[in-house]
Amino acid sequence: MESIFCLVDDKHIPLYRVMWVADIPHFCGHEDCAREGQYEIRLEQDDAVWATREERDHVIQAIEAWQGGSKPEGDWE
Ligand SMILES: [Zn+2]
Repeated sequence: MESIFCLVDDKHIPLYRVMWVADIPHFCGHEDCAREGQYEIRLEQDDAVWATREERDHVIQAIEAWQGGSKPEGDWE
């Protein structure tokens, strides 16, 4: 069974909290920006984590596996 969590930076992120994942690395032009070249992963409640390209790809794969793999079978109603 696939984990519902995905490790980004040093945080285990629940996949259902991910709103969107950046397609291109962050660039804002600020000299002191610590996020240059990192990929933003936006979470619920205006929260966000910053991932490397490998972590970003891993998150997308994990979400696809999660959505496609363990679909709820209508037991909710
Ligand atoms: Zn920046």
